[in-house]
Amino acid sequence: MRVWIEAARGLIFPAGRPPRPWARLERPFCERCAEPYSRTAPGEFLCANCLDRRWSLERVRAAYRAVGTVREAILRFKYGREYHLRPWLGRWMRDGFRQYYAEEKWDALVPVPLHSERKKIRGFNQSAEIARWLSARIGIPVEEGLARVRATLSQARLKRVERLSNLRGALALAPGFDPRGRRLLICDDVFTTGATADACARVLRKAGAAEVAALTVARG
Ligand SMILES: [Zn+2]
Repeated sequence: MRVWIEAARGLIFPAGRPPRPWARLERPFCERCAEPYSRTAPGEFLCANCLDRRWSLERVRAAYRAVGTVREAILRFKYGREYHLRPWLGRWMRDGFRQYYAEEKWDALVPVPLHSERKKIRGFNQSAEIARWLSARIGIPVEEGLARVRATLSQARLKRVERLSNLRGALALAPGFDPRGRRLLICDDVFTTGATADACARVLRKAGAAEVAALTVARG
């Protein structure tokens, strides 16, 4: 990872408007986890992985795949602390919102929480920062309704099974947050196995949220 980041830092990103990413996330994809399907699929379908997995998350959507410039920008924002890339990620997340969620009513954007120790190291919670950029433009409030109650290993280094157990009991409702009867959009930079977003959704649904879906900048 470190080598990759160093290499990415050497690339020059032009100032101003972000480039339009070429790798759009488009149907056919799994209606729940948005895993793209290479062949043509008849109508709506669930992938094999989702058919035998119980999700709390209703669905996830993103406008782009996590490749090329999008992947670079996410990594540089998150690990390289290149805060100036926030509007790029915000715009790309807004593209996904417009494409998949704008027709529905959402009560709040709920960023995936970062443990305070990691926030101290990184300086900011990337998911909350992107969500705030989006919130200011679409008029849906950001509510940091979730908290990490236990530090976890970085999900990026773990296999899928390990990711699930790594998160067990790691998340809780933030004090004073009441999700009952509300439609909530979990916001994160990237969706890979969905373990984190689904753990967030589980907490919110258990506490009475009416519906929980996820919106990310990119689908891994
Ligand atoms: Zn799926």
